[in-house]
Amino acid sequence: MGLTGLEIYKQLPKKNCGECGTPTCLAFAMALAAGKGALETCPYVTDEARENLASASAPPIKAIKFGNESVLGDETVLFRHDKTFYHPTTLLIKVSDKLTDSEIEAKVQEIEGLEFDRVGLHYSIDGIAVVNESSDQDRFSQVVEKVASATSRSLMVLSENPDALKAAVPGIASRKPLIGPATFENYEAVVNFAKEQKVPVILKADGLDALNELVESAQKLGYKEFVLDPGSRSTSQTLANLTHLRRLAIKKKYRPFGYPVIAFTGKNEPLDEIAEASVYVAKYASAIVLKTSIKAHILPLMALRQNLYTDPQKPIQVEPTLHVIGDVNENSPVYVTTNFSLTYYSVEGEVESSKIPSYILPIDTDGTSVLTAYAAGKFEPEKIADALAASGVAEKVNHRNLIIPGAVAVISGKLQEKSSWKVVVGPRESSGIISFVRTMQG
Ligand code: SF4
Repeated sequence: MGLTGLEIYKQLPKKNCGECGTPTCLAFAMALAAGKGALETCPYVTDEARENLASASAPPIKAIKFGNESVLGDETVLFRHDKTFYHPTTLLIKVSDKLTDSEIEAKVQEIEGLEFDRVGLHYSIDGIAVVNESSDQDRFSQVVEKVASATSRSLMVLSENPDALKAAVPGIASRKPLIGPATFENYEAVVNFAKEQKVPVILKADGLDALNELVESAQKLGYKEFVLDPGSRSTSQTLANLTHLRRLAIKKKYRPFGYPVIAFTGKNEPLDEIAEASVYVAKYASAIVLKTSIKAHILPLMALRQNLYTDPQKPIQVEPTLHVIGDVNENSPVYVTTNFSLTYYSVEGEVESSKIPSYILPIDTDGTSVLTAYAAGKFEPEKIADALAASGVAEKVNHRNLIIPGAVAVISGKLQEKSSWKVVVGPRESSGIISFVRTMQG
């Protein structure tokens, strides 16, 4: 169990100097107890206190790194609105060693094609989980080698046979795969092997009591690079297990469960599988192993993950520079909007659909939408006029017509005065752009 705020406070220097970013030592102690601070930010903690407080200041869920920069865990809150979520659920797709060579090549090629652009950010599937379903140790090694040479993505290597892992993993250990699972039957061999290879390992047991026992046994081997699998494969039981694990780790600071968790989908029909995986993305899988690799199935899952793991206090923004849409010429319309991604891409989508090549100038409003920016004084005529002049668009077009969002029609007079451009009030909503621009053109 973690220490309480008062227990932590007793170990602090009590200078109340505020150098840690909180006004008093007591407030700092409370933040530490809630897992929202770092002990290192106080420069006056004694070595003795540091040692005593080590467990209290450790993150409630350990960060486990594997493969191609995949980071699991290291979350500090139960709900995103408490603070934020840091490490998006790592998504991997299963490749069975029962497939033929040509089936494996096709599957890996399909996985490699899973690249998406959404609201200005690029996403791809994180990795491939090679699973030993053939019970053939040599075949497993061949497939691990084949997949590893065909992808640079993160790798997971899964077999309950320690000998199969020992044969397959050393050749790719430099890529730091996540291996396992270690169970009650094999954990000494698998965890010791993972320790020797310096790779993280999945601990799998049926239910939380058994998992607790397995973690405590495995920790005694002097290794703590663990990812937990509570063994369930039905959606409701997995959701219950993942929720209990997260609550115990975050709220109770229960150290044996202070590791990232992994879920494996059980559904076979792809749309059911994606619905199941959506539950695990929301609560609280650090990694999910999927079966489907069809782009249309994966995209909604990626979109859900992006939405959940976007920090609401840091809106996604686009570059506040002149954007060119289509094959522009000197007659192309010029739009102005804000640099909040959702606003910008709504405008861009409608401008593209209008099939009239155009310029869009997003103003730097710290990623806020038009009305919010206007209310906060971030979408002011002077600022827009300066950005317009700095963008160089005046040299690219032979007109001086600037289209502004209809919601801020009130700035049109002053903007015209400051910019010397004729300000045209556009539609209130981006959905009105197509009919607006066609009417305007003629
Ligand atoms: Fe107290 Fe240390 Fe924070 Fe100063 S920096 S207020 S001594 S906890």
